Amino acid sequence: MSSIFTKIINGEIPSYKVAENDEFYAFLDINPNAKGHTLVVPKKEVNKLFDLEEDAYNSLMSYSRKIAIALEEAVPCKRIGMAVIGLEVPHVHVHLIPLQEMEDIQFNKKVKLEPQEFIKIAKAISNNL
Ligand code: 5GP
Repeated sequence: MSSIFTKIINGEIPSYKVAENDEFYAFLDINPNAKGHTLVVPKKEVNKLFDLEEDAYNSLMSYSRKIAIALEEAVPCKRIGMAVIGLEVPHVHVHLIPLQEMEDIQFNKKVKLEPQEFIKIAKAISNNL
């Protein structure tokens, strides 16, 4: 069965898309730790980060860096934090989170955003790429 992220990549489930290329899809986390919380996902469905082939791993880091730079320009913050967890969705993804304080990287802190705000942020990041 396809992961929820594969369904998002295939357009079967809607998402606030930030960017994509042949290998990766970047979109806003639906339950963000902080405004601008973005996920970067390889289109090829692999469960764990360190199971990726070295080239795929390096490409994911390189693509995540591009997104993080655009994100930092779009959302005022002290820096972009990066985390890889995957306990909820077993399809590799990098969390990019604009940080103001340490709590922003902790997954028990969530912010509520309206759809219009998700759309605005996704567009702002995308415009910086
Ligand atoms: P992890 O697997 O790294 O523990 O967390 C999965 C992340 O994916 C969570 O931050 C969660 O909010 C996000 N997520 C889960 N389902 C969806 C979804 O359907 N759409 C979006 N945009 N994000 C999701």
